[in-house]
Amino acid sequence: MRALIVSDVHSNIEAFQSAIEHANDTEGFDQIWSLGDLVGYGPDPGLCIDLLRQYEHVAIAGNHDLAAVGKLGLQKFNMHAAAAARWTTEQLTEEHVDFLAQLPIRLEVHDFTLVHGSPRDPVWEYVITAASASANFSLFDTKRCIVGHSHIPFVCAPKGESAQFFDFPVDLPVRLMDDKLIINPGSVGQPRDSLPTASYALYDSENQTVTHYRVAYDIAATQQRMTEHNLPQYLINRLARGR
Ligand code: ZN
Repeated sequence: MRALIVSDVHSNIEAFQSAIEHANDTEGFDQIWSLGDLVGYGPDPGLCIDLLRQYEHVAIAGNHDLAAVGKLGLQKFNMHAAAAARWTTEQLTEEHVDFLAQLPIRLEVHDFTLVHGSPRDPVWEYVITAASASANFSLFDTKRCIVGHSHIPFVCAPKGESAQFFDFPVDLPVRLMDDKLIINPGSVGQPRDSLPTASYALYDSENQTVTHYRVAYDIAATQQRMTEHNLPQYLINRLARGR
């Protein structure tokens, strides 16, 4: 079984389509695991939901998905994110709302726990420091945990009482051993590690590997759509910088 692991698609249909095409052209995949924030920020929330649903999938909700359907207030969102969230809500059909509203915030699949933020706080916590990672290692029972939310790809392993972050190498399969790991596939639709290319991962259950891939997509087309919808200029600009 091969799973295409995507997170933080953020209504960026160009990036999402490119990731799917790239995965099909490389290893192929049987199902999609979506780590949340399928919508928010970008111009095509409905198309992204529809595209995910064309495939066998496992999906959890992120803070932007919950906000779009009124299950989370906008108090903790910055003004650009809040503006985009309000706009997103207006775009969704009843079917889209129903889909997002039924997503769980934590799931176990194969040997993985899936959460958007962290096992400790699936909605909001960013796993970006050794302290946050080490605190979370004891809070999942599977061998591995996959998170999103920070839009930064990494592999993290326990190190004594603490934790160590490793760069998630591109195009190079990481062999999964018995160690506990926290993995972030990066963001498909709004990468923030200074690379503007869509980031995703592919899990191969037979070979027990997970591989990080980057793929170029038509950033200008997404930016154009955002401009047409009067989405915040800051959100438009950041796509080209990958920040
Ligand atoms: Zn996000």
